[in-house]
Amino acid sequence: MKGKRIENGDLIKTLDVYLKETRGILFAFDVENKNYKTKMFKELPKDIRFLNPIFYVNSSIYLRRVFSESIKIVAILRPCETRAYVELTKLSQIESRSVICGSFDCFGTVSSKKEDFSFPYDPRELKVFLESSGLVRYACQVCGHKEGIFGDFGLRYDKEWNLWFIPYTERGRVLFDLIPSEETEIPFELEVKEKKDETTFKTSLSEFRKDFERCIMCLNCKNMCPVCFCVDCLFNTLEYLPKGDELINTILRCGNTELPKNVEIYHFIRMYHVSQTCVGCGSCEEACPQSIPLTKYFKGISGRLQGIFDYLPGKNFDEKIPYTTFKEDELPYAED
Ligand code: SF4
Ligand code: SF4
Ligand code: SF4
Repeated sequence: MKGKRIENGDLIKTLDVYLKETRGILFAFDVENKNYKTKMFKELPKDIRFLNPIFYVNSSIYLRRVFSESIKIVAILRPCETRAYVELTKLSQIESRSVICGSFDCFGTVSSKKEDFSFPYDPRELKVFLESSGLVRYACQVCGHKEGIFGDFGLRYDKEWNLWFIPYTERGRVLFDLIPSEETEIPFELEVKEKKDETTFKTSLSEFRKDFERCIMCLNCKNMCPVCFCVDCLFNTLEYLPKGDELINTILRCGNTELPKNVEIYHFIRMYHVSQTCVGCGSCEEACPQSIPLTKYFKGISGRLQGIFDYLPGKNFDEKIPYTTFKEDELPYAED
């Protein structure tokens, strides 16, 4: 596979040229006074820090419902965020012609709920720090897809910690052509390697009930999940989440009711809705005020289902989401 080695400042210069030409926007991470931020840049500063070791939310939610074709956006995100972005383009939730979205190698992330830490600036030191810190989120500990191999391009470290830009699509190639260095074969050994998906989830309805009895139905998990995108969600209605007179009527009609109502149905419906496209990012768990181990369930159940269809969400732009296709000879063992 071919790529270009990024020399000092090349990436910023390249982005600057493209964004000035197109009057576009950069969507990436940066650090300011030791605070890591997700940012949209209309004007580029001299230096940007693209690696963000703190996870707040899957940033692809900010690209959801970008339909304008006239705006150009370059997004440089983590692999799980880029994968969610790719899924959203398939679900017609983003106009992909407006966006060039690439993935940066990821060393794992720490929850934003943890107290402040001073993370090393140098990428190799950051990787060592994260690996030895014991702070890395559960979603990252079991993540099997940390490599920058998703989206329109990848930014990847080799064993010498040189950074490489690798185009995967024609859109990625637009930026690639602007990078001043020579196109060459990328080194065989890269720093972040594919690892076996280590989801250890086992189905247990009693454990599920116990974990979810703390749920207060705040719906944060739905709102912060990148691939849970229905505009008219059932759970925004009084039918599924009754309040006030609607709730009193329900009790008069149906008898004693536990509150909040419909907790299990909510999570089952959500699981069904995201099961094909869940990227295992743990954004739902990060947003949960009740510390419910959502990643375990959502990544676990989705991973099993995706395995049946041999489907990895966000792997590429062309592969159709299994539920959106029909193949006559699919899953023969499921027939009578
Ligand atoms: S889930 Fe994977 S790609 Fe996403 S932040 Fe964690 S390690 Fe990185
Ligand atoms: S269900 Fe949770 S882990 Fe899966 S994509 Fe949504 S936020 Fe990420
Ligand atoms: S974020 Fe947590 S408490 Fe809120 S609805 Fe989801 S699981 Fe329940």
